[in-house]
Amino acid sequence: MTNTTLTQLVSEMAQGSIRVVDLTVPLSEDTPVIGLPEEFAQSPAFKMEQISQFDDKGPAWYWNSFSCGEHTGTHFDAPGHWITGKGYADGCTDTIPPEKLVAPANVVDVSAEAAENPDYLLTSAKLKEWEAEHGRIEPGTWLLMRTDWSKRSPEDFLNYAEDGPHTPGPSVECMEFLANERDILGFGVETVGTDAGQAFAFDPAFPAHQLMHGNNKLGLASLTNLDKLPPKGAVIVAAPLKIVNGSGSPLRVIALTS
Ligand code: MN
Repeated sequence: MTNTTLTQLVSEMAQGSIRVVDLTVPLSEDTPVIGLPEEFAQSPAFKMEQISQFDDKGPAWYWNSFSCGEHTGTHFDAPGHWITGKGYADGCTDTIPPEKLVAPANVVDVSAEAAENPDYLLTSAKLKEWEAEHGRIEPGTWLLMRTDWSKRSPEDFLNYAEDGPHTPGPSVECMEFLANERDILGFGVETVGTDAGQAFAFDPAFPAHQLMHGNNKLGLASLTNLDKLPPKGAVIVAAPLKIVNGSGSPLRVIALTS
């Protein structure tokens, strides 16, 4: 039996009335990686080594090996990444149900606010204002925070100062609202991690990690092209590598949008 919805989807994709938007940054040795205070272990940068390239090691084939931290470049945060989410049987990259990897997105544009103030914090008041214009944030959907941070140079992207990084993110009460009152699928950002640069000093610290993962919810970091999506209506495909007991992985994030 033909499913008319799927038939229409592929037909509209072929016609271009449904576009495919790539929300992924290139992954290379130049990809910026989060730095932690020096008492903690650091995540290694992306590294690629050639196995063979049409030579004695492999006359007709080209391939490489690569290594990196799970949280490198455009990447997925599984609930098991954080201490509050470590107990979930379906909380690692191999156990998250595949139904959660395709979902609608709400895109909240705070690029003007973030340009004014690199420490800008998203609030529930801002989200309620957004809902009044665009409609309610439904359970099981992504909340993507557009800051245009992906357009910055690598140095301004990490934006370190003596007192730590200065990058935008969500407030504590914003995460409480999204987890408890909206029951979203997860929270995605353009910055290097889902929390604000100064979130180590919040109470609780790192609320996006603490509250999203504590409620078995997901994260996406280092997204790009959020300015090419409508506030509502796009569908996101975000499927991490199926690493056994993985806490996350680099991935290709794709949006379907009209
Ligand atoms: Mn991460």
